[in-house]
Amino acid sequence: MKFSSKTMNLNIKNQVGYLTFKKLEEFKFIRHAFSTRLGGVSSGNFATLNLSKKVDDKEKVEENIQRFCKSAGFERESLCFIKQNHGTNVKVVTNSQENNEEFFDGSITNIKNFTLVTLHADCSPIFIVDPVTKSIGMLHAGWRGAVADISKEAILKMKSNFGSLAENLICCIGPSIGPCCFEIQEDVQQEFEKISSKLIKKRDNKIYVDIFECNKINLLKSGVKEENIFTSNLCTKCNHELLFSYRQQGKIHGNMAAMIELI
Ligand SMILES: [Zn+2]
Repeated sequence: MKFSSKTMNLNIKNQVGYLTFKKLEEFKFIRHAFSTRLGGVSSGNFATLNLSKKVDDKEKVEENIQRFCKSAGFERESLCFIKQNHGTNVKVVTNSQENNEEFFDGSITNIKNFTLVTLHADCSPIFIVDPVTKSIGMLHAGWRGAVADISKEAILKMKSNFGSLAENLICCIGPSIGPCCFEIQEDVQQEFEKISSKLIKKRDNKIYVDIFECNKINLLKSGVKEENIFTSNLCTKCNHELLFSYRQQGKIHGNMAAMIELI
């Protein structure tokens, strides 16, 4: 398996593979990782390191979570999962961990030892770090989240809760379905054209969209500096041996997890 990325490293520990952003490795007050398919115990479309309990055997997924945590350095008890629904609701993680039924597609915190977690198949993870206020955010931004601009919601909440300024934020856009593979229809095209017509690429009478660029434009609009935005440019479908992909595998597919924690 070839791996090539200017912004991310592929780490292998105890056979578990996980990706990290080179830029975020500079910050010693955080721990972060994006899981891959490598090093788990699940089989079939969940092979091998599926981290979602939705469809797969729950005991196997729990073993996968344990393996991933051990390799990437997280405590299992610190993981704060959220119930995602491709919306823009962002949870502020505080000391009290209430377990409500509300949907969230992102979370933010300025408290140590709470690991923010989002699950992904083709949707972009966005890691946010504020080195000034020492606060963090973790977002699930697929096409619906990107069109509805979940990053704006997260940045506003980081400002009101932690005093974060957009100009100080470091934002890293992780793997997702790329402009090479994300074919859309005209109804979805219209949604993206409201943001920018340059997101749409037409080839062979088919319409494609660039989610990486859409998330980047959203971050710029919120005031994040261009030099503080890092994009993986890794397509989940093209890299399906390494990453799960809804569009490669179909409805029955595994999920990767994106995690970040203040330490
Ligand atoms: Zn691709």
